[in-house]
Amino acid sequence: MPTVDVLLSADAIQDRIQEMATQINQDYEGETLLLVGVLKGSYLFLADLAKRLTGDVQIDFVQVSSYKGGKSTTGVVQIIKDLDVLIEGRNVLIIEDIVDTGLTLSHLLELLKTRRPKTIRIASLLRKPEALQTPLDVDYVGFDIPKEFVVGYGLDYEERFRNLPFIGIYREP
Ligand code: 5GP
Repeated sequence: MPTVDVLLSADAIQDRIQEMATQINQDYEGETLLLVGVLKGSYLFLADLAKRLTGDVQIDFVQVSSYKGGKSTTGVVQIIKDLDVLIEGRNVLIIEDIVDTGLTLSHLLELLKTRRPKTIRIASLLRKPEALQTPLDVDYVGFDIPKEFVVGYGLDYEERFRNLPFIGIYREP
């Protein structure tokens, strides 16, 4: 049986998301904001963050694919589900679970920029600084973590573990 060793507790995650929300509330005061959740991994982060945002917020989702169910990247990014709304002239905040190589988000960012949003920024719950393969500015980062494969709180291994309230390191037996 694989094991999952706790890296970030449920309480630590919630405390950090509150801090991120406080910052985002300040930065977008008086503005409307479109949260763009990157499916599926961001679903819990987006829900917990959005609950703490006090401004005029809308939510949409995009789904991209670069991983084929395992643990290694293919480097190919495809849009599986596009946005339902137009983003021209709007403040867009991309909500991501984890920045690993950065390839997925840098492709998505370039694509969405061509649609001429007013502003576009990135919030990622996790980032692996040692794994970054492309320059990518992440405007709001929850936690920098080591270059380990993690699951829980939205993140999966072959679609399992997304429901865990904490984040843990996945280890094969
Ligand atoms: P990147 O393009 O930055 O290498 O990868 C981003 C995507 O890879 C994330 O949205 C996530 O779906 C997946 N990913 C990267 N690292 C991990 C990890 O440690 N655990 C899981 N479950 N997914 C990961």
